[in-house]
Amino acid sequence: VKNEENSLRRTNFRMEIRQRSWQESPEGEKVLSFRKTLPAYKVRETLLEVLSNHQVMVVSGETGCGKTTQLPQFILESEIAAGRGADCRIICTQPRRISAISVAERVAAERGEKIGETVGYQIRMDSQRSRDTRLLFCTSGILLRWLMSDSELMEVTHVLVDEIHERGMYEDFLLIVLKNLLSRRPDLKVVFMSATLNAEMFSLYFDGAPMLHIPGFTHPVQSFFLEDVLQETGHDLTATNQIDDYGHDKSWKMERQLRSKSHKNQVTAVAHAALAQQDYSELPSRVRDSLQLWNPESLNFNLIEKLLAHICEQDKEGAVLVFMTGVEDISALLDQLKKHPVLGDSKKVMLLASHGSMGTPEQKVIFNPAPPGVRKIVLATNMAETSITINDVVFVVDCGKAKESSYDALNNTPCLLARWISQASVRQRRGRAGRVKPGVAYHLYPRAAYDALEQYQQPELLRTPLHAICLTIKSLGLDSIEEFLGKALQPPEERAVHNAVQLLKTIGALDDHEALTDLGRHLSMLSVEPKLGKMLIMGSIFRCLEPALTIAAGLSVRDPFIAPAEKKELADESRLKFSGEDCSDHLALVRAFKAWMKAQRQGKAGEYCWKNFLSTQTLQSMRQLRRQFLGNLSEAGFDMISSDEFSQDLDLVRGVICTGLFPGVASAVQKTRSIIIKTKNDGQVNLHQSSVNGREQRIRYPWLVFSEKVKTSGSSVNIRNTTGISDSILLLFGGELRRGCEPGYLLMEDGYLEFFMDPELATMILRLREELDELIQR
Ligand code: ADP
Ligand code: MG
Repeated sequence: VKNEENSLRRTNFRMEIRQRSWQESPEGEKVLSFRKTLPAYKVRETLLEVLSNHQVMVVSGETGCGKTTQLPQFILESEIAAGRGADCRIICTQPRRISAISVAERVAAERGEKIGETVGYQIRMDSQRSRDTRLLFCTSGILLRWLMSDSELMEVTHVLVDEIHERGMYEDFLLIVLKNLLSRRPDLKVVFMSATLNAEMFSLYFDGAPMLHIPGFTHPVQSFFLEDVLQETGHDLTATNQIDDYGHDKSWKMERQLRSKSHKNQVTAVAHAALAQQDYSELPSRVRDSLQLWNPESLNFNLIEKLLAHICEQDKEGAVLVFMTGVEDISALLDQLKKHPVLGDSKKVMLLASHGSMGTPEQKVIFNPAPPGVRKIVLATNMAETSITINDVVFVVDCGKAKESSYDALNNTPCLLARWISQASVRQRRGRAGRVKPGVAYHLYPRAAYDALEQYQQPELLRTPLHAICLTIKSLGLDSIEEFLGKALQPPEERAVHNAVQLLKTIGALDDHEALTDLGRHLSMLSVEPKLGKMLIMGSIFRCLEPALTIAAGLSVRDPFIAPAEKKELADESRLKFSGEDCSDHLALVRAFKAWMKAQRQGKAGEYCWKNFLSTQTLQSMRQLRRQFLGNLSEAGFDMISSDEFSQDLDLVRGVICTGLFPGVASAVQKTRSIIIKTKNDGQVNLHQSSVNGREQRIRYPWLVFSEKVKTSGSSVNIRNTTGISDSILLLFGGELRRGCEPGYLLMEDGYLEFFMDPELATMILRLREELDELIQR
């Protein structure tokens, strides 16, 4: 014991000497004097004092004030100074992978160290840490995984949970877990960090934990809304007169405003209509045409292009940060901008993208300053809103939307939609322009639209399907899902929890008593969406993992087929060509991806994508994800040998697809002239035109599994991305079949669907099914 104590003492001594000699070196001094200019530095002593007297605290402060890089560092430095450097283990969670890495690298650099020494990071599939690591940045998901094996966090002395204002699902989850843990670990210190002022809510949740606000500084940012942007980019606003003759046939209350000649009012009216969830598409096409300048339903790429060109003409130096909704529009816009004479000229403009599904080396580029005379333009998702800071940004272009998963508990319909962001997010985005000097923010929506936005965003826990999180709760060994989620800051609806549990039972991750099955345990280890996880496991069992990987990756990044508005037909043709006779968007994707890989080996990838209306960036993200899934599978102990043996057996592959999409099934009934498509809960649904099955006159399969069901703002339901499957495949790979009744009922979503089949065949399939279920559970 004595030896160990001595060794710890020696370690700490070394750490202290090293820290001091760095801070006294010329470079270290420079860093320290920079750090002292950050607002966070002013609260250093207060923070440490509060933390020494309390177990939990909540810190808020504007983005850029130094929460993420400084607070954990203050704690580390003071621990070292107090002689506890060797024993402390500080963990700081980040909602996103890229922020964990970039922040860790920054902090290591500020300490004059290499990454992986005292300061490290860990994200899924990548880490830089060593025995010396005392401050570790990780994603919130990683901390949750640790909790699965070490529920008391015995190894940890301090936990800092960052960006809690975003109300991400994992962060809300950590709040519950940590709240439970506090009494069992009285020595554990917990700090919650938030970029907005609504810290009281969190403080109250922790029985009035002390709050500390860091007063910030930013340079002023001038704000322009759509009205101003249109004028600045030279749009003719008189075009709006056309709608004057819009008839009186609609007793719509916006009508009068819409007929107004003033462009401002008109835009305002549409803003209200859109935000009040009125159906924009119901407007007469004449009105819509004249409103093309701002369509609340979609981004106006041409306007963004004009605006960016306009910015590039200005003398004011500084990078441009464009907030887009997701990977797809980023890739599409990037493709468009590359063709622009100025924006596409790499000698004048550095065009970059930043989104969650990019590889980390690619992402690091965005932090590099542009060479002199070159304008850096970064197209980013809302990730750039709070968690990463690109220092030289002076112009912000804000489309007002972010892609966010949402969930309609009543209809059990998950959807990933671009939604309006909250006012808090708008302010946040705007603030990104004022970091180094006074900046400019262009909001591509009318001021009235801003006024109508929600103040704060809904927590993720209330707007996403809960099955993945429920699976985590189970694998953490926490008893009742309902009880656990009931303790959340804002508990989700009972119905949503019920649906999630039901789905986990349907896919076999939970048994009838809500206990975790072996399959459930595997799925929780895979850390991919449970249904996709099951698809991968199926693919591996049936040795057709190749297509399963591609489809799982494709479903995670969404459609790599781009459909530019003016060439929609051609783009849809392209998909149809890949599908051949297979009635499957998913198989088309598998072929397109495979051909892309081949084209890449031949050095013809660019040409291939261009010809076939495919997005290079999306395909690259898919390749990255495939690698990640493969890694996850082998980590979880799945045998990868000969996993591609039966990839050509398309019926088998259909079955695997069905596994991943169930209970997303619709029946397709052929009528003389048309095909009637129905799902259990929605009744008749529409098949999206982009789906290869949507263009077929005849669907050769009685069932369609689908990966996307979207409620349009009217009352109709659209499905897209479909694959035709047969009765037997559905029975074999789909949900549970209730037996002992004729004609038979198939359990789906939350009801039974009538199912007619030859009894003998059904019996045989059911026997197979039992064997298969057993096999999977093993
Ligand atoms: P917060 O978490 O409060 O938003 P950070 O701790 O992330 O603030 O950043 C504080 C400051 O440190 C920033 O304003 C920026 O000036 C600087 N900084 C952070 N990360 C980097 C980086 N990777 N490169 C250069 N400067 C950085
Ligand atoms: Mg931060």
